[in-house]
Amino acid sequence: MNFLCKHPFIYVSITPDGHYQLCPHSKKLNPIYNTKNISLQDFFHSEYSNSIREDMLDGVMSDDIKDMCSECINLEKNNLPSHRRMLSDFKKPEVKIVHLNNIGTKCNLKCINCGPERSSTFGPLIDNWNEFDLSQIKNIKEIWTIGGEALLMKRTKDIVEQSSDDSIVYIVTNSTTFPKWILDYKEKITIVMSIDGIGKVDEYIRTGTIFSKKMKNMDKFVENFNHRFVFTLNMINYKYMNDVIDFLKVRYDYDLDVINRLQNPPFLDCVNVPGNHIGQPNHDIFLKGIRFLKFYDIENGKNLLDICPEWKTFYEKENPQPHNFSMANLTMDIPPLTIYDRNDIEF
Ligand code: SF4
Repeated sequence: MNFLCKHPFIYVSITPDGHYQLCPHSKKLNPIYNTKNISLQDFFHSEYSNSIREDMLDGVMSDDIKDMCSECINLEKNNLPSHRRMLSDFKKPEVKIVHLNNIGTKCNLKCINCGPERSSTFGPLIDNWNEFDLSQIKNIKEIWTIGGEALLMKRTKDIVEQSSDDSIVYIVTNSTTFPKWILDYKEKITIVMSIDGIGKVDEYIRTGTIFSKKMKNMDKFVENFNHRFVFTLNMINYKYMNDVIDFLKVRYDYDLDVINRLQNPPFLDCVNVPGNHIGQPNHDIFLKGIRFLKFYDIENGKNLLDICPEWKTFYEKENPQPHNFSMANLTMDIPPLTIYDRNDIEF
């Protein structure tokens, strides 16, 4: 089986607890390599990384590839689009993109699919970035800062300041804050705004958001920076996706052409919504989602039926059930992103 993919030839991603990956979509990680025991470049050119690339080029499906690419293998097995990208122009492997998930967990929101590995509102404030020498990423052309809320963390400014002039720093933000310092780096920063619905839908999914305030910040980001939007599709906003597409087009003349489908935890995946167009629903998993959301409502003073009144019968029948988004899963359970071309999702 030939399982060639471009990402291990150009990427390094670092998880919230400092483990290296050769791809931001890899779910399972090689447990040996982390920022505490090896530099980023040494990892990228390590025997492990070299053999993954060589095996991919030779068409060998090694155990390391099966492990690293399990998410994509699984998606393709189910005839779904994976994150795998063509390697059309082979050049010497070189780190061109780095994803930094480990700048810290400081965050001001409690989003529905988040947990202590990502947000300090669920667990401890982690900042394991201090021990990382920023000169290691200085010359990388694309640097992604992913929190927590990247604009609340001092390390984000350090990264912007210390990266080379021709680097682009992508800052992923929940758009609830607009620190003035970013205006000094308009050329260098690209702002990536998360938006999961319009008005009360976004406020429901991203607890703590005041959408009117967020909109004002988004206006300023759009006015001042190169920018992108990220929409994460889940069971709650499934039927509202076109509202987001229309809003972004009308307000910002922005074409939302990629969609991130949430698959982890599975009970929030839109694939289980009755009658959806994505895949075969599993009703038991859908009901688990309803139980979780009922618990979420009690915890946060919300009501799912304000957003999805058509689920009243299920909601009234099911008992609330919490889910443990555990710190113990920090390394092995990074929620994978599943990016779809918008045209792959029919409505
Ligand atoms: S996990 Fe997917 S995107 Fe990442 S290297 Fe493997 S095939 Fe490519």
